[in-house]
Formats: sequence, structure tokens, C-alpha cells
Amino acid sequence: MPSPRFRGSFTQQAPIPEAGIAAAVAVMRSGRLHRYNTGPGEVSEAAALEQDFAAWQGARYCLALASGGQAMQIAMRAARVGPGDTVLTNAFTLAPVPGAIAAVGARPALVEITPDLVLDLDDFDAKARATGARFLLLSHMRGHLCDMDRLMAIAAARGVTVIEDCAHTMGAAWAGRRSGGFGLAGCFSTQTYKHMNSGEGGLLTSDDAGFMARATILSGSYMLHDRHGAGPEAAAFADARLDMPNLSARMDNLRAALLRPQIGELDANVVRWNARHDRLADRLRGHPAIRLPVRPPQERYVGSSIQFTVPGIVPDKAAAFVAQAAAEGVELKWFGAAEPAGFTSSHRSWRYMEPQALPKTDAVLAGLFDMRLPLTFDLADCDMIAEIIADAATEAGLAAAE
Ligand SMILES: *Cc1c(COP(=O)(O)O)cnc(C)c1O
Repeated sequence: MPSPRFRGSFTQQAPIPEAGIAAAVAVMRSGRLHRYNTGPGEVSEAAALEQDFAAWQGARYCLALASGGQAMQIAMRAARVGPGDTVLTNAFTLAPVPGAIAAVGARPALVEITPDLVLDLDDFDAKARATGARFLLLSHMRGHLCDMDRLMAIAAARGVTVIEDCAHTMGAAWAGRRSGGFGLAGCFSTQTYKHMNSGEGGLLTSDDAGFMARATILSGSYMLHDRHGAGPEAAAFADARLDMPNLSARMDNLRAALLRPQIGELDANVVRWNARHDRLADRLRGHPAIRLPVRPPQERYVGSSIQFTVPGIVPDKAAAFVAQAAAEGVELKWFGAAEPAGFTSSHRSWRYMEPQALPKTDAVLAGLFDMRLPLTFDLADCDMIAEIIADAATEAGLAAAE
């Protein structure tokens, strides 16, 4: 019997908490939307957000920004990445990551990924040595954390500064330490499809005072850096205030107001995401053609999306599988498609950089499928989605082929 069509929306996020809506309305009533437009003794919503997020993340400093992409660009500039420098990064990531490297005039050197979707640490070591690169923009792509202990050991041995892209790992941890707390800096996004939602927005965290002073001036603080909620002391700005250009990438009070109450919901939401993710993963694991990435015990992930591979799948069958699932209302993204679609693209469609040979990554991407899991879905939805995927796989002839 064919499964009934799934009617849920894969792009429908949960509403903004009422407290956030009320705070945003208060900001609008005040007219003081710019983060430095404060009355006497007033702490702006943007500064309060920096304080709240730094405390939650366990970081000494936090800077609120206009986007996650800006957080990565500013982090690289503040780490003194310059034009022509090589920046290592994952070959499997989303367009804002190589885009940020291009924006600072640096050259991305792509590192292979493993079948478990994390950075291939042997290839990282080899490419760090071969290129002499001093920077790694590590993308915890789709929420998968590599062995962070081994990664940091290699980075230390090779003199590589690590900046973490935590767009998919806000709330995730390795061996009890939150992602973003390993390298020089953590870059977070509060764009609608991430773990907190302000439409657009970014947060940059670090424990390094000099770095954060440079980042703050870069963000467009003018000489108002003393009005930040979780910034370094005045002395740290002595050089930065004159050395760094203003890139105008600030967050405004309206978005900060929307975000602050969401911080308090994050940990509970991680539990809710993982209940959905694990329910689906358990169902899919039983299918003979489907392989789930192996997740080490040290990894605490946030299952806001799910990935699986069908190793060895040929393009025609992959396309048929996606089409069959879509006909039943389930939106699968396929990273092996020749043409980029929606939010997905592969390194072959980033033509602004030198083409690079990534046979291992290409082999993984050829059979990689991805699905978003908004909190507006419940466990019964997950059961239904699993059934539709299994049926579509059988329909596309995958069970027999692999
Ligand atoms: C969304 C995203 C970012 C940051 O995106 P913004 O839209 O600029 O906030 C960075 N890395 C990855 C992997 C992303 O998916």
C-alpha cells in the first residue's frame, strides 16, 4: 500500500518566543534600534545579547554581528589572514564558507571529508604541510564534529590557527566542551534556518582579548567599543582602534531582542531536535541500502538535520529516489547533483577558486542525502517520513542494487 503524502513544511520554523516579540516591540516603540543608540545608563539589547550568549557558550568574549558569514570574515581578518594567504577548509560545506575566504582575498585549499562527513584529519595534516597554510576555517558541516582532540593536536604541531564555523553546531559539544571553544574563535549564525532565529545575524566568540578587540573595531564599533556587553577591557583596544578598518557589520537591537529569550530555550531544543533525529535515524538504519554516519561517543550533536548515504548509487537512481520522495511530500537534498540547487552546492560550482581534485569527497557526495528537521515536526511525522524514504528507496530500486 503506498504511504500517504506527508504535508509538513521542511522550511517552517517554530515561532519567536512571546518574550522576544514583546522585547522587539519595546525596541521599536523606543525608536532606538541602533546598538549604540542608548539612553543614559541603558544597556542595549545587542550588548545584553553578547553577555547572555558568552555566558551560555562559556566564552570570555562575544560580539554580535550582521550574519554568520560576517562573523567568519571578521574572524579571519582579526586573526590576520591577509590577501593571498591560504586558508584550509572542508571540501564539503555550504557556500558562505568558501565565500568568506574569498571575501578576505585569501585562497581556499579544500580538505577531503570522510564517509562520516567530517574533515579527513590525515588529509588535513598532509595539506597543512604541503601548503604551509597557517589557518583552518573548520566547518562543523551539518552538525558533524571531527575528533577535536586529534584535530587540535595536528593544528598545534603544524602551527595552524583554527577558526570554527559553528553554524550547524550551536549547542553541540566534543568530550563535554562546546563547539566553538576549541579554536581561536567560534562563528555562529542566527539566520532563520539555524538554531536561533533572527532572520539574519551572527555571533563571534573567543577568549583572546587582542583578537576580540580587532574584531570589534572591524565590526563597525567606531570608538564606542566600551558599550559592548562581553568585550575586552579598554587596554586591549590601544592599537586595534587605529589599525583596523570599519566594515559596518553590526547587529541591531531589534534582532538582539528577538534572540535573547531563545538562548534560554536552546538546551531544551537540542533535546527535542535529537529526539526527532534519533527516531528517524533508528528507522532508516534498518534499510539495507542506507548508511548513517557513525558518530563517536565523545560527540554531542544537535540533530536539526539528518544525513545519510547510499554508497555506490548512480546519478539516475539518485534523481529518481529524490523525485519519488518529493512526490510523497518529503524534501531530500542530494549533494551529488551536477547542478547546484537551493542551499546545496559542491566545490565544483565555486568557480571563483582554483579547481581542486577531491576524489574522496566526490565519492561521498555522489551518494549523500540530507534533510532538514524543523521543530514543527513531531515524532509521528518522523515515523511517516522514514516510511516514505524507505518506500522511495525501494521504488527507485535501491534495496536490490546495493
Ligand atoms: C548558514 C551557514 C553559515 C553562515 O551563514 P549566514 O547566512 O551568513 O548567517 C556558515 N556556514 C554554514 C555551513 C552555513 O550553513
